[in-house]
Amino acid sequence: MSDQVHIVCAPADGAWTTRGASFDHRCSKCSKHVMLALSGQRLLRTNPAARLICVPCFVVVLAEKGEAVELLPPSGEQLAEAKTAIPNMWRERN
Ligand SMILES: [Zn+2]
Repeated sequence: MSDQVHIVCAPADGAWTTRGASFDHRCSKCSKHVMLALSGQRLLRTNPAARLICVPCFVVVLAEKGEAVELLPPSGEQLAEAKTAIPNMWRERN
């Protein structure tokens, strides 16, 4: 990854999700649907040029680029979302 901002997202058919997550965005690398939590939706609105990348694709990028990948620490909102995750009842549909 370059200086391009990426938002790492869980696949839309992941086992867990967060309240208010959307499932209508796609990974910029593999084009599969991803889920975007409210915090991610907010991040995308304030960084409209950001690209979404799913966790499996991000793992590949991490293996290739290693320490060249700069990760921002999770925000308080993201940590709160992780603590209140719910089962993804839309998993089969997605
Ligand atoms: Zn992907």
